[in-house]
Amino acid sequence: MDRKKSLHRLQTETFDLCIIGGGASGAGCALDAALRGLKVVLVEKTDFAAETSSKSTKLIHGGVRYLEQAFKKFDFAQLRQVRHGLEERHTVLTNAPHLARPLALVTPVFSWWEGLYFRIGLWLYDRFASDRDKLPGSRWLSKAETKHLLPGLTDRLHSAVLYYDGQLDDARYCLALVQSAAEAGAVVLNHAEVTGFEKNDEGRLQTAVLRDRLSPNLQQSSHSALHIRAPLFLNCTGPGADTVRRMANPDLPDRMRPSKGVHLLLPQSVTGSPDTALLIPKTPDGRVVFAIPFQGELMLGTTDQDVPNPEQEPVLMAAEVRFLLETLQPYVSQILSKNLVKAGFGGLRPLIAASKKHTKGLLRDHEVEYDPESGLFSLLGGKWTTYRLMARDAVDAACGFLDINAPCTTANHPLAGSENFSPEAWRSLAEQYHLATDIAQHLARNYGSRAASVAGLTGQNPEWALRLAPGYSFIRAEVVHAVREEMACTPRDVLARRLRLEVLNWQATLDAVPVVAALMAAELGWSAREQQVQAETYTRQIISFQQAIK
Ligand SMILES: Cc1cc2nc3c(=O)[nH]c(=O)nc-3n(C[C@H](O)[C@H](O)[C@H](O)COP(=O)(O)OP(=O)(O)OC[C@H]3O[C@@H](n4cnc5c(N)ncnc54)[C@H](O)[C@@H]3O)c2cc1C
Repeated sequence: MDRKKSLHRLQTETFDLCIIGGGASGAGCALDAALRGLKVVLVEKTDFAAETSSKSTKLIHGGVRYLEQAFKKFDFAQLRQVRHGLEERHTVLTNAPHLARPLALVTPVFSWWEGLYFRIGLWLYDRFASDRDKLPGSRWLSKAETKHLLPGLTDRLHSAVLYYDGQLDDARYCLALVQSAAEAGAVVLNHAEVTGFEKNDEGRLQTAVLRDRLSPNLQQSSHSALHIRAPLFLNCTGPGADTVRRMANPDLPDRMRPSKGVHLLLPQSVTGSPDTALLIPKTPDGRVVFAIPFQGELMLGTTDQDVPNPEQEPVLMAAEVRFLLETLQPYVSQILSKNLVKAGFGGLRPLIAASKKHTKGLLRDHEVEYDPESGLFSLLGGKWTTYRLMARDAVDAACGFLDINAPCTTANHPLAGSENFSPEAWRSLAEQYHLATDIAQHLARNYGSRAASVAGLTGQNPEWALRLAPGYSFIRAEVVHAVREEMACTPRDVLARRLRLEVLNWQATLDAVPVVAALMAAELGWSAREQQVQAETYTRQIISFQQAIK
């Protein structure tokens, strides 16, 4: 993943398929198409996974709520989603075991009949799982067993039901897809925005016009814009899909109905467990909320709010903090206040509009749309869990159009970093590079079998073995690696997505920004002025997040 090389190839080569958008959908399509032998280019407006794909609840699931809805509303189409989700859960966990793992989830109940209701529901959920699945089955826990797993829970609970789903590091999973696509031959480029199309005499797309957002000179002149010629363009821009659809054909009606969801981060001591999540089965607005351990903190979310015309980055707001803390409070003994909030983030669900009024009733399934007038393909809707199925359907359609006969092979394709990965690999890493246990474990989880290439950098410069923030396992070598190997171009690319410090702790992120900007400046040859601008821009952004919850 070398941005200069990608820019050069993009300008000098011709492609079978141009994919617009580098989230889960676009990255999944790029890998699938490259493995089938297509010449693919993937372009992303900001950074890979910068939008929804780094802002999810990070669950790989069939959706217990869909199961409930299926029976409560006799809407048995939802069962198909549960089944697909559970099948894909197995694939997501298997193809990148360093980035995705089983997660225990506990649903506390306050009476035995409530316990019976969830026990039956989760027993059914187990039945829908794939036969290949190795996740433990669900079970009813006594109050003592529940408090043993989650010591922070209230004494008022009666008992709880335990079940398993998958959890992934969403941004790094997306990056692993992009890396794997690049290794399979795709040209990948971040910070490059499609701003329009050129059409042939029949009105069909033949060229995408791009703005390189890291090159101010190119922004000024339309002559210096980048152009990609391809017989086929695939729109994978998630919640922003309508904008690209209209660039291709202004007459197309809107299809997307984005819905905002937020999460906030609390100290893990609130539930008291480093590895067991809490599921709150019913909020006042009829949804579920999760409190999930994520990289040493507790992630609480989410919400569901219709946002018809989202223009700015969705951020966590004070009212949303109040709502989420009030929802969690009856379940835990600690008194919750907004002073506990360490960080937070908002994302937009790429929901396809349906006739129903509320967003939680909108279709969550995916669709491959073809516009016969412009020739644009769009992959709409879906969720992280089913990214591979979505990609398979979209690339099947692309191959049909291009008259290429090549089957999908992603079901059994190990992603970058998962080759010969062993969960115990951190031990030899710690020994060989003299790393603290938590750092070695973190490197093994983030980079899988490629962790040694990060750890090895500490031999080149002992300062690179230093932590970026006290109490967290991220080290300076990772910044260097992110720039050299993972196409990180800004401090936010590093701290929000290559490492997840921004997601975990805003104050620690602010403290780390100067060091990260200095390390990046040395790698990328930034002037002192550029380094300062980069650090200040990011600092202002984090401060604005802090102010939004005041
Ligand atoms: C709060 C929340 C919680 C969720 N939790 C879960 C969960 O637990 N499990 C689950 O399975 N799913 C979950 N999801 C859904 C899942 O995150 C999304 O379905 C998925 O990430 C969407 O990926 P995408 O690639 O379609 O969209 P995105 O990730 O938004 O990617 C689209 C990309 O296109 C780029 N782009 C836009 N315009 C242009 C342009 N003109 N040129 C170039 N690039 C462009 C954007 O910058 C963006 O990076 C959740 C979603 C939300 C919001």
